[in-house]
Amino acid sequence: MNTESLYRSLVAAAGVENVRTDEPMSAHTTFRIGGPADFFVAPVRAQDVVATIGACRQLDVPFYVVGRGSNLLVADAGLRGVVVQIAGNLSSVAMSGEGTVVADAGVTNAKVASMACRESLGGYEFAAGIPGTVGGASIMNAGAYGGEFRDVARKVVCLDADGETREVSRDEAGWGYRSSMMLDEGMVVLSVELELHEDDQAAIQLRMDELARKRTDKQPLDVPSAGSTFKRPEGHFAGKLIQDAGLQGYAVGGAEVSRKHAGFVVNVGGATADDVVRVIRHVQEVVLASYGVALEPEVRMWGF
Ligand SMILES: Cc1cc2nc3c(=O)[nH]c(=O)nc-3n(C[C@H](O)[C@H](O)[C@H](O)COP(=O)(O)OP(=O)(O)OC[C@H]3O[C@@H](n4cnc5c(N)ncnc54)[C@H](O)[C@@H]3O)c2cc1C
Repeated sequence: MNTESLYRSLVAAAGVENVRTDEPMSAHTTFRIGGPADFFVAPVRAQDVVATIGACRQLDVPFYVVGRGSNLLVADAGLRGVVVQIAGNLSSVAMSGEGTVVADAGVTNAKVASMACRESLGGYEFAAGIPGTVGGASIMNAGAYGGEFRDVARKVVCLDADGETREVSRDEAGWGYRSSMMLDEGMVVLSVELELHEDDQAAIQLRMDELARKRTDKQPLDVPSAGSTFKRPEGHFAGKLIQDAGLQGYAVGGAEVSRKHAGFVVNVGGATADDVVRVIRHVQEVVLASYGVALEPEVRMWGF
């Protein structure tokens, strides 16, 4: 990789103020873990995202799209290539006709949920406490408390692997459990259109408050993590298996199986990615040996 010409292309695509080098990914993940990305770009407009990714493709440089980094474990050695952040930037959300909300990929779920509530629109309450962007939610089909992103999405505007911008309908999106066609095909989400329903504002607020209370009661929200570490295995709950195996509190370095919710590996202070990986492996081995269940990480692991 010719780093000089890559840098110049990224600056031309996104503006010099939005391109950084050797950026610590620990600053961009909720785990607070991750070594430096060679290049880190935070484009402010959709066309700048398109141009940035176009530059990476043209120069044959690997790139990673990151939202709020709330489902990521980045290796201690960091990431070679370019990280494109869509969070904080690209974050407008607006009504567009009855029950329709259009949100840029970088908008947080919390912002969409509170706007929907203000407009007396129900349906997004389930996602209010999922600490990511709508881009991340649509790629992962984020879900909680009986709701899933696919229940409320009408269409998603994406940049496809050929560099074309296209609309992906609900039927085409192939949403499954924490999966989507867009994830499989390496698409980048630019914006989403949500279909919500009219409801009583006080009732919506009550549901959001209730779900927030449940999260605070059950989840270790006061320490860094990436949420549920493992996917829900068919017919079981990962947290219950881990708890029953006596693994709560199991720790390597600063990474620990949460004592509050066994489904979370948390960073209790100075955890490295290597610590987390060792905890994950140990948990997988013990649960497989004890219950014959293979736990698969839900957290996406980059740079290993
Ligand atoms: C405390 C806590 C609680 C959580 N609770 C839940 C929960 O209840 N339900 C749940 O489903 N998840 C939960 N999560 C996990 C996480 O918040 C979700 O997976 C979320 O949807 C990830 O969004 P993000 O913007 O942070 O994406 P990131 O973590 O930045 O990225 C995740 C994946 O999405 C891709 N991606 C992100 N944005 C885009 C884009 N614009 N275009 C293309 N790809 C993109 C990335 O490349 C990566 O593959 C929780 C996490 C934490 C820390």
